[in-house]
Amino acid sequence: MQQIRNYIDGELVPPASGSFLENIEPATGRPYSLCPASDQWDVDQAVTAAAAAFPQLSGLTAARRSTCLLKLADHIEKDQEAFARAESIDTGKPISLARSLDIPRAVSNLRFFATAILHTSNEVHVTDGQALNYTLRRPRGVAGTISPWNLPLYLLTWKIAPALATGNTVVAKPSEITPMTAFLLAEACRKSGLPAGVLNIVHGTGPAAGAPLVAHPDVPTLSFTGGTVTGRAIAATAAPMFKRLALEMGGKNPNVIFADADLDAVFPATVRSSFANQGQVCLCGSRILVHRSIMDAFLDRFVKATREVIIGDPLDDATQHGALVSQAQRDKVISYLDLAREEGATFLCGGKRPENLPKRCRDGYFLSPAILTGLPAGSRVNQEEIFGPVVTVMPFDDEAEAVALANGVAYGLSASVWTRDVKRAHRVAAAIEAGTVWVNCWLVRDLRVPFGGMKQSGVGREGGMEALRFYTEPKNICLST
Ligand code: NAD
Repeated sequence: MQQIRNYIDGELVPPASGSFLENIEPATGRPYSLCPASDQWDVDQAVTAAAAAFPQLSGLTAARRSTCLLKLADHIEKDQEAFARAESIDTGKPISLARSLDIPRAVSNLRFFATAILHTSNEVHVTDGQALNYTLRRPRGVAGTISPWNLPLYLLTWKIAPALATGNTVVAKPSEITPMTAFLLAEACRKSGLPAGVLNIVHGTGPAAGAPLVAHPDVPTLSFTGGTVTGRAIAATAAPMFKRLALEMGGKNPNVIFADADLDAVFPATVRSSFANQGQVCLCGSRILVHRSIMDAFLDRFVKATREVIIGDPLDDATQHGALVSQAQRDKVISYLDLAREEGATFLCGGKRPENLPKRCRDGYFLSPAILTGLPAGSRVNQEEIFGPVVTVMPFDDEAEAVALANGVAYGLSASVWTRDVKRAHRVAAAIEAGTVWVNCWLVRDLRVPFGGMKQSGVGREGGMEALRFYTEPKNICLST
């Protein structure tokens, strides 16, 4: 079975303990590779390598760093089919999604930040003829990045690209559930000639490998994407150490559909925003709020469109809905479906093991997309993040009620609003407590915009200038004139 390696100081190495975790293919339920079960020792080695490489990387011109990252992007792009296949096998997502979203976005992340650093300017403040102040921005040292399993390479590169572009060195801890494309990335780093120690990748579980990275005294900057419970534990360690911390966490995003919405546009966007990547996108709209006057028409079309989603082997080009990432994730989603029954939900479709799966996928972690109605806004199913192919639909009678329902959860990551009324669109978008509000669209992403969550969905912002600021330390230089 293939053994994944850590990437430390430019070398592909096994974990010091020699221990590995089984890496399961979600579509089959069978192990297909081994992931290093790294621990404190491996993390220490990686941080030492990153700290040693920092003077070199931070001393390079922006143009040289840019060239390194562009070369890395080219190598991923050249091997994009291999990356897409690996991502699909590792996560259970349809290969068409890995080809169209995950891998191209990883390439774009690297290219975006590689070129962004060539177009920045520093601030200057002139003090009434007395002094000239300018803001020097320097990289902060070793950055620790911790990423989840739903968009493995996409989110890993989203963090390492701005960190490296601004001259920080990195120790990355990908999810132990989906380590494969991070391993391929390490190989691409070697092929592209990225200097040793600049990027280090340590695989392993959160408690064994993630926690020592968070607590390491030589890692002053931490960027985490994952669940809110994990984010809280990371903050508890990092805050008393005064680390700079970005937390991108869970969501329970509303998708608000007014009576004047263009229903032809609402579909198939709402099918995608509900069930893309088997509902395992932090930005999925899991609470659909529909004006009561169009509820019946909406549900008819929504259920029909959802039933047409092609469920199958993730490696089949035609598949639109693959397997959930793990047995544990599938069990968690099923426990919420059981809870929904207890809470009085009506199941309009889905929530079952799909029939007619190919033989290879008989033991995979598949679940058909579920649409539930009849649950109160305060029910647990409407309040807690499920992170699977389950949406609820609730009616509202007016704009104020729609906004109150949209905001009536602990999360605030994203929202969608569907209406033809421009004034209402602006009003509702401004009133919804979320880091991103899409109007008449979903998941349109411009890498220049601030990205992150409010409330229990996040602290800080990634994206564009926000990311460049996060990974640099501003210093005011005041020059007497
Ligand atoms: P998770 O929190 O279980 O794990 C995320 C990462 O943290 C993994 O690499 C894991 O090994 C590591 N980790 C776990 N415990 C740790 C600890 N004590 N110390 C340090 N690291 C630790 O999340 P997940 O199940 O992998 O991902 C799903 C979650 O991610 C969902 O809640 C989803 O909403 C969220 N997510 C958020 C965004 C966003 O941009 N806001 C994007 C994608 C996913």
